[in-house]
Amino acid sequence: MEEFLSKPHAMMEHPQFPHLFSPLDLGFTQLKNRILMGSMHTGLEESKDGFKRLSAYFAARARGGVGLIVTGGIAPNRRGWLAPFGAKLSTNAEMRRHRRVTDSVHAEDGKICLQILHAGRYSMHPFSVAPSSIRAHISPFKPFEMSPRLIRSTISDFAQTAYLAREAGYDGIEIMGSEGYLINQFIAPRTNKRNDDWGGSFENRIRFPLEILRAVRAKVGADFIVIFRVSMLDLVDQGSSWEEVEALALALQDAGASIINTGIGWHEARIPTIATVVPQGAYAWVTKRLMGTLKIPLITTNRINTPELAEQLLREGYADMVSMARPLLADPEFANKAYRGESALINTCIACNQACLDHIFGGKEASCLVNPRACQETKFPAPELKAPHAAGKKVAVVGAGPAGLSCATELAQMGVEVHLFEQSASIGGQFNLAKRIPGKSDFAETLRYFEHLILKTGVHLHLNHKANAEELLAGQFDAFVLATGILPRTPAIPGIEHSKVCSYLDVILGRKVPGEKVAIIGAGGIGFDTAAFLLHPSETENPLEQYQKEWGIDTAYHERGGLMPAQIEKPKRQIWILQRSKGKIGERLGKTTGWAHRLALKNRGVQMISEVQYDRIDDAGLHVTIKGEQQILPVDHVVICAGQEPLRELVRPLQDAGIQVYLIGGAQEAAELDAKRAIAQGLKVALEIGA
Ligand code: FAD
Ligand code: NAP
Ligand code: SF4
Repeated sequence: MEEFLSKPHAMMEHPQFPHLFSPLDLGFTQLKNRILMGSMHTGLEESKDGFKRLSAYFAARARGGVGLIVTGGIAPNRRGWLAPFGAKLSTNAEMRRHRRVTDSVHAEDGKICLQILHAGRYSMHPFSVAPSSIRAHISPFKPFEMSPRLIRSTISDFAQTAYLAREAGYDGIEIMGSEGYLINQFIAPRTNKRNDDWGGSFENRIRFPLEILRAVRAKVGADFIVIFRVSMLDLVDQGSSWEEVEALALALQDAGASIINTGIGWHEARIPTIATVVPQGAYAWVTKRLMGTLKIPLITTNRINTPELAEQLLREGYADMVSMARPLLADPEFANKAYRGESALINTCIACNQACLDHIFGGKEASCLVNPRACQETKFPAPELKAPHAAGKKVAVVGAGPAGLSCATELAQMGVEVHLFEQSASIGGQFNLAKRIPGKSDFAETLRYFEHLILKTGVHLHLNHKANAEELLAGQFDAFVLATGILPRTPAIPGIEHSKVCSYLDVILGRKVPGEKVAIIGAGGIGFDTAAFLLHPSETENPLEQYQKEWGIDTAYHERGGLMPAQIEKPKRQIWILQRSKGKIGERLGKTTGWAHRLALKNRGVQMISEVQYDRIDDAGLHVTIKGEQQILPVDHVVICAGQEPLRELVRPLQDAGIQVYLIGGAQEAAELDAKRAIAQGLKVALEIGA
C-alpha cells in the first residue's frame, strides 16, 4: 500500500479499488477517479452568505478526493425555478458569484460541473410551464402549455446558462433530463400531449432535449464536459419504453454529450428509490442494460454508499463511473479514506433522508444525520486530530448511544482525555435495535464507523460498565456528559401487567415472539418499525427481488416506465396500529419516507386507527373506545410503543458536587428525540467543552 500511495493516481493500480481509482479520460480532460458527487439541492444556493458556504462545502468534497462534483440544480430562467426566487444563472452578475465556488474547488485540485435544471410542471409557483397543461398530483399548480416560441427561447436559455457556467470557471455542466422535470416531461407521452413538432412521435418528443444539447455544445465548444442525465426508468405510467431510452441515449451521444448519467424514477412515482428500504445498488441493473451500446461513459446511481459496492459495480461492468450524492454529504473524505485503505473509517450514509431531503422538502437547509457538519462547514470546520490528552482536560461521557459516541469522539479529536462508559456489551444504544428493522441494516454502518473512530482517536471505552456517581466523582473529571438515553414509557392502562403485553424492546430483541394478531399502542417511528419487523417475510428471500416485487418494478421492462403489478405475499400477522390523537396515522414520519412506510403497511392489511381510547387489556384482548364506540380487538399480544422518558438518574449527585454536567440526546429530552438531534448535540457540547 505504501508504495502505491507514493505514486500519482494514474501510474499504478490501486490494490483494493483498482476500478474506482482508475482515471477516466474524456479526451480533452481527465477525471482522477470514477467517483461522481451527484447533484443535491442543499438550500445554500438561496441562503444569505450562500456562495461563501457553498464554496466551503464543495471545497471540502474536492479536498476529499472526489473525481467530479455536480452542483445542485440551477434554473436557466425564472419559469424554471424550483420555487419562487430559487437559484438561477442567466446574468453576468449571477455568474460572478459562482466564481467563488469554482475557484475554491480548483484550489483543491477538484473538478465541478453546474447542473442546469428546469423544473417544468414541478415548479412550485403559479407561472410554471410544461409541454402540456397537465398538473402533477404532487404540485398545487397547473402549468401553462409552452408555445413554440417559448420552447425556442428556453432552449436558448439552457445554452446561455451553459455559456455562463463556462465563464464562471466550471469544468462542465449536467443537463437534468430525468426525475420528471421539464425535459423528461417533453420526452414521456405521460406529460407530452402536443401535436406539433414538439410532441406526438418519439422523434418529436426528444426534439427538445436534443436541441438543447446541440445549442449548448455550440455555445461551450468541444472541450467542456456536458453530462446528460437520462431518465432510464421513469417508474410512472406512460413513461419511456426501454427502446426509447436506448435510442435517446444514442441520439444524445451523436449530439455531443460527453457522459450519460442515470436518472431513476419521477418525483411523482409511488416507489421509494433512494430511501433506507431500497436495497444497496438496487438500480445498477438499469445502467448495465445500456452498457456496450454507447461509446461515451455511463454513470450509475442510487443507493450506492460504500467504495466496496462501487468497485464491485465497476468491476462487473454495470457502469464506467459511479454517482454518490448523499454519501458525500455524510463523509466529504469518502474518496480519500477509500484511497488510503481506511474505508472502515468512512461515515456511511444510512439513507434515512432525515437531514437532507426531509429538510429540503420542509423548506430548510440540508445537512446530514450522521454528519451535522454537512452544509455547516463555515460554522463547524473539519476537526484536526490532536495528540491524545493534548488539551489537558479529562471528561467522562456516560452512555455510548449516538449522542455519547458523537460527543466522545469529537472531544478526543480535540485532545481531551475521554472516558466513555457503556453499561451494555457494545456501543450504539438504540441503534442496536434500529439496525434489526427490515431495511435499516445500514444503521450498523454508523456503529462500525464509531468503533473505528474510537480506536483512532484514543477514546478510553469502558464496556459492560454501568457508571455510578461515586466512581465518576472519584475520577477527577473536569466535566461530565450524560448521554444515558431513555426508558420506554409504560402507559397507565388497566391490565398493563397482563402476559399479553410486551414492549418493543422484547419484540425487536427477540425476547418475545408475538402471535398472529397484534395490537401496537403508539404510532410513532418505533410503532411503525415494530410493525415492519413483525410483518417481515422470511429471512431467506433475496431482498432485491423482494423489493422489486413489492413495489412492482419490472427488470424485463415489458411496459413503458418499467412498472408491473406489485406482488405482496400474504402477511404473516394481522396488525392494528393505534394512537390516541386525531389526524392521519404516521403523519409525523419523515416527509420523504413516511408515505412509503404507510403504503408498505397498508399493502399488508395493517389497520391504522386514530382517536383510540385504551380501556383495558385482558384475556379477550385489547378493549378500546373508538370515536365513542366500544370494541374488543381480539389480539394475542399488545406491543407498547408509547414513546419514552429521559433517563437521567446521575444528574443530581454529579451536579451537587459542583462539577459541570452536560445532558445530551434522550437524557436531555426524550420527546421528539431522534438520532439527528442526538448526534448534533454531541458535536455542539464537545465544541463547547473543548473550546
Ligand atoms: P441511546 O441510544 O438510548 O443510548 C443511551 C446509552 O446509554 C445506551 O447504550 C445505554 O446502555 C447507556 N447507558 C444508560 N445509562 C448508563 C449508565 N449509567 N452507565 C453506562 N451506560 C449507560 N432515530 C432516527 O433518527 N431515525 C431512525 O430511523 C430511528 N429508528 C429507530 C428505530 C428503533 C427500533 C429505535 C428503538 C430507535 C430508533 N431511532 C431512530 C431513535 C434513535 O435510535 C435514538 O434517538 C438515539 O439512539 C438516541 O441516542 P442517545 O444517545 O440519546 O440514547
Ligand atoms: P413518538 O414518535 O413520540 O411516538 C410515540 C407514540 O406513542 C405516539 O403515537 C403517541 O401517540 C403514543 N403515546 C405517547 N404517550 C402515550 C401514552 N401515555 N399512552 C399511550 N400512547 C402514548 O416516539 P417513538 O415512536 O417511541 O420514537 C422515538 C423517537 O425515535 C421518535 O421521536 C422518532 O423520531 C425516532 N424514530 C424515528 C424513526 C424514523 O423512521 N425516522 C423510526 C423510529 C424512531 P398518542 O399520544 O396520539 O397516543
Ligand atoms: Fe444520508 Fe441520512 Fe445523511 Fe441524508 S441525512 S446524507 S440520507 S445519512
